[in-house]
Amino acid sequence: MKTIAVIGAGTMGNGIAHVFAQNGFQVNLIDIAQTSLDIGLANIAKNLDRMIVKEKISAVDKENTLDNITTFTVLKEGVAQVDLVVEAATENLDIKLGIFKELDEICDAKTLLATNTSSISITQIAAATNRPEKVIGMHFMNPVPIMKLVEIIRGYSTSDDVTQSIMDLSVKLGKTPTEVNDYPGFVANRILMPMINEAIETLYNAVAGVQEIDTVMKLGMAHPMGPLQLADFIGLDVCLSILKVMYNGFKNPKYAPCPLLVNMVMAGKLGVKSGEGFYDYSESRKAEKVANQFS
Ligand code: NAD
Repeated sequence: MKTIAVIGAGTMGNGIAHVFAQNGFQVNLIDIAQTSLDIGLANIAKNLDRMIVKEKISAVDKENTLDNITTFTVLKEGVAQVDLVVEAATENLDIKLGIFKELDEICDAKTLLATNTSSISITQIAAATNRPEKVIGMHFMNPVPIMKLVEIIRGYSTSDDVTQSIMDLSVKLGKTPTEVNDYPGFVANRILMPMINEAIETLYNAVAGVQEIDTVMKLGMAHPMGPLQLADFIGLDVCLSILKVMYNGFKNPKYAPCPLLVNMVMAGKLGVKSGEGFYDYSESRKAEKVANQFS
């Protein structure tokens, strides 16, 4: 595989493009919004600068990485003649079904189709195509350039060959792939999201404030980041979508999203990407306590 299309230049898409480009792949980064592409590219450049400061890469490596990325706003132009598509668009079933239907019509028959979905059924996405054996989940973790895990999700029809090539490809990116089966939330979010939801519920029930809940989990459980801050980094809209998929998929009330999470998403408080979530990122971009607003 040499040429990869990445669909969506948001939180995950720009990280995925970064990692492929840094490892020598030609990357077509596609988004319906030019602003997302601009912000995504600026973010990649900023992250590469950080790596230069830490002496992990040289200035030439940065230029080569950026040279490997071409941006597109028209899907058809960006996916022509690529070996693999990694879809990282908004976590919404209809958007993903629409994209995969179109990809199946316009991509070469040999092109593999991967999705970075956090929770949506790979089997359902694959069923929107005529090549379900070539559709697979390639679930990178945030921030992509740093996190080692790629959760590889086999849909009902994903072939052994395709699974093996995506596992091998992940290793070439310096990642550790782990194969799992296709059930709502897979493994990562089936375990992570109930914890985040419970942290929000604990805040909603005024058991403790934002800082206190995060401090307990950081210092008490050795988590590098508290669950509320992690939710801000993931995006509260993304957390809500994942919980809804698990709630609907298992019909189990333990996955019901906390009403505070629902309200915050409706109010546009999506975390880091909107400038405010459980913490305020608007001015210094440093996590600051929202002074016990919800406690
Ligand atoms: P995001 O909201 O930051 O970015 C989504 C991007 O997709 C936006 O730039 C939007 O303009 C673009 N988009 C929407 N519809 C499109 C279309 N039809 N064609 C092209 N681009 C389109 O979202 P994100 O957090 O990067 O999440 C992307 C995917 O990755 C989701 O499936 C999400 O569940 C998954 N994911 C997210 C995280 C996380 O921590 N945020 C972690 C792992 C996986």
